[in-house]
Amino acid sequence: MSSSELTLRPFFWRATNLFPETEVVSRGPDGSTRYTYREFGDRTRALAGALSAIGIDPGDRVGTFGWNTHRHYEAYFAIPLMGAQLHTINAVLPDEHVEFIVDDASDEVLLVDPGEPFETVERLWDRLDGVREVIVMDDSIPDTDLDCVSAFDELVADADAFDWPELSEDQPAGMCYTSGTTGRPKGVEYTQKMIYSHAMMVATPSAIGVDESDVVMHVVPMYHVNSWELPFSSAMAGAKQVYPGPSPDAETLARLIEEEEVTLTAGVPTVWITLLEYLDEHDVDVSSLERIVVGGSAAPHAVVRRFEDEHDVVVEHAWGMTETMSIGSVSRAKGRARGWDREARFEKRAKQGLLSPGMEMKLVAEDGTEVPWDGESVGELYVRGPTVVGEYYNRPEANAGSFDEGWLKTGDIATVDEDGYLELVDRAKDVIKSGGEWISSIELENELMEHDDVREAAVIAVPHDRWRERPVACVGRRSGSDLTADDVLEFLGETYPRWWLPDSVVFVEEVPKTATGKFDKKRLRDRYADAGLARAHGDEGGDDDGREDDDAEAN
Ligand code: AMP
Repeated sequence: MSSSELTLRPFFWRATNLFPETEVVSRGPDGSTRYTYREFGDRTRALAGALSAIGIDPGDRVGTFGWNTHRHYEAYFAIPLMGAQLHTINAVLPDEHVEFIVDDASDEVLLVDPGEPFETVERLWDRLDGVREVIVMDDSIPDTDLDCVSAFDELVADADAFDWPELSEDQPAGMCYTSGTTGRPKGVEYTQKMIYSHAMMVATPSAIGVDESDVVMHVVPMYHVNSWELPFSSAMAGAKQVYPGPSPDAETLARLIEEEEVTLTAGVPTVWITLLEYLDEHDVDVSSLERIVVGGSAAPHAVVRRFEDEHDVVVEHAWGMTETMSIGSVSRAKGRARGWDREARFEKRAKQGLLSPGMEMKLVAEDGTEVPWDGESVGELYVRGPTVVGEYYNRPEANAGSFDEGWLKTGDIATVDEDGYLELVDRAKDVIKSGGEWISSIELENELMEHDDVREAAVIAVPHDRWRERPVACVGRRSGSDLTADDVLEFLGETYPRWWLPDSVVFVEEVPKTATGKFDKKRLRDRYADAGLARAHGDEGGDDDGREDDDAEAN
């Protein structure tokens, strides 16, 4: 029997007592800040003292609008350790979402980065009724008409060190909102125990594995599910950490990898596509980099192969959601795959992988029956475990459709193979069902990105009179490429039956992204709702889409 609660205290204790000299590096607009876990600990206690002095009590929510910096990291520990709740807010959401989120969460104090995040708060100030103080995460305050603004560093310099209170493992420690591409964002709360459990899970070698010898660069925005919890796992492990500051571009990331000798990093695929392009053209030494965790949307196979072949970096494909505190599966070749050839191992590793320790899953068909694990049958993925939320905050109507007897209905459509490897086919709302048959947008996107002239590609469903939905491909070409729609269709036709081929190929400068860097398929669907109809109706000189002829092929 243990009388200890599962809280963040031992993580903070371990980093500051066992690894006091290990560095935390943070890139700012005017150069980098570099300090040790010892100084991190002192400033974090002082920040908690400052927040307490302005009236933040256990149970209160403090919102943050911040980039990936050391100040934001101090808030990551100070707020939960004083018994309050850290609410990270996406700094680039539309105004009406920000207003809704701050009000819904009843944030009392906001920690805000200078620049765009502060401008957002200023612009919306008259609508943020519940907020009484704004702390700018800088050494001074910007010019402003607001009279309740103070500077983070000044508060920290003047405050007394705070003594952490006893915490209960079930008290709320964190809060995030789903990105809300459809409808209003939905909030989820993370307790002390949930953050503890998830950070531990991430740190195990069965998930990501974080060690004291790692140098971890946090590319996932700190407002996106706590940067996938890696800041917590890194402190627990005593790893050196690198925070790349506001909107880092590929050059910044490449230079930081070289200068700080980064070994481990994580982020959505689009970041790594641009880094690969940068490395193609610049001579940067990224040989320290051992692993990149790619998730948030499907990792394109071409990107995985290129990192492995050209840069000797292992790409670990991960799946997760805000509701699973980010990482919930990681793709690793099982021990029994050691003797397999490279391609067979790759086939497994390219999937979303094995569910992380502590979780359970099942696949459920539309009629409610369980789907077999044969790598072919599709169903909705249900998951449960101590790192999976049990409800949405304040949204009883959303709870009814999303949870089922302790299981989270993820809304992701997937297969599971005989070895237990999960592979996502589509997000339920992105699924393409043509004449009642599934077409996987993820598979088509992956294939498109194998083409040398394709930079990025998103495939969406558009309404169709006859087949109800047909695929349309939105393709970003590499610079200098004169790839045509026919080339694209011919390329896909080498692998897929005709009825899988997009009805239209639209070339785009850049595929629009959501606030967390994923393809914004809702925007694409709105924009190209009519794109498929032309060809289907023969307006482009083609005949019908050949679905009938190909039924035989599909069967
Ligand atoms: P969010 O809560 O905004 O992080 O979005 C979670 C959703 O992103 C999941 O339900 C999936 O639809 C998608 N997602 C996350 N990781 C992956 C992945 N590796 N492959 C495909 N989709 C993913």
